[in-house]
Amino acid sequence: MIELKHVTKRYGATLAVSDLSFRAPEGQIVGLLGQNGAGKTTTLNMLTGYFPPNEGQVLVNGMDMLHNPRECKRCIGYLPEKPPLYDEMTVEAYLRFVCELREVERRAIVAHIGEIMAICGLTEVAKRLVGRLSKGFRQRVGVAQALCGNPPVIVLDEPTVGLDPRQVVEIRELIRQLGKTHTVIFSSHLLSEIQQLCQRVIILHKGRVIREADMAELTDGGDKVRLRASIAMNEEKLLPALKGLDCVCRVKVLPATEENITEVELECDARSDRGDPQTQLFRLLCGLDAPLRMLAPQRDTLEEVFLRATADEA
Ligand code: ATP
Repeated sequence: MIELKHVTKRYGATLAVSDLSFRAPEGQIVGLLGQNGAGKTTTLNMLTGYFPPNEGQVLVNGMDMLHNPRECKRCIGYLPEKPPLYDEMTVEAYLRFVCELREVERRAIVAHIGEIMAICGLTEVAKRLVGRLSKGFRQRVGVAQALCGNPPVIVLDEPTVGLDPRQVVEIRELIRQLGKTHTVIFSSHLLSEIQQLCQRVIILHKGRVIREADMAELTDGGDKVRLRASIAMNEEKLLPALKGLDCVCRVKVLPATEENITEVELECDARSDRGDPQTQLFRLLCGLDAPLRMLAPQRDTLEEVFLRATADEA
């Protein structure tokens, strides 16, 4: 498990990260989400021991990165923003070199590299020069070097940036696979990417954590339920009745797609005394003789959560 406790980093007068605390639990894919300049790279650089914080602590399995850098770094494989590749080496030779740096037992290296290349889909390019590979394959080599020495934690800084859509899908699939056997922490400014891959998300904004939660919890409305409904009744008659329902907090009228059909989104109190919002709505519409054409509970997208959280901060 990795933990940052009250970590602060300044670059001269720039406060890049301020009093940042979060945990990455074992065996999860954790996403660090933030706009450009939010402090993602700075955070990952401290988390991997690339540089120390000005204040605060980085703990890896309870060990302090400052006092036990070697032991801590052994637990972490890191793909930085710019992968540390040697273009003039073949993929195989480069991975061998990284294994040696990471003190993998000499006689185990060949099998270890073979396994890593298979996981990362690099076997077919083992003998090719790194400098001649496409961006997608270079990124895979970057991920592969992070796996050398079999560290339990893999940290990836914006691993899909600059890749074409097909390569993005491939790298995401690789991250998903790695998440089955490793703790994975990766940064991204792509909300959809974080939503697709992560069990836990940490939202950074201007160097601070503004939300940290399990993905399901984050996109669940909590005490509120949002219902989208399509009802065969005109708006003038329907709206006052909907607003009169005990559970309804807000009614938003959506653009109508058919004549005499009113499309609405209702924000409802999930724990209303008069029964759940769906039941209340059914009863009301039966009484009004207004056929319900469609009813669908809505979940927040991560985009909505992110925009709300950053707007709250602003
Ligand atoms: P991006 O998505 O654009 O890579 P980020 O979320 O990774 O952004 P950081 O690169 O950590 O953000 O930067 C956080 C802040 O620190 C920014 O204001 C940036 O300009 C500043 N910063 C980062 N590195 C340095 C540096 N070496 N010297 C001075 N300021 C820096």
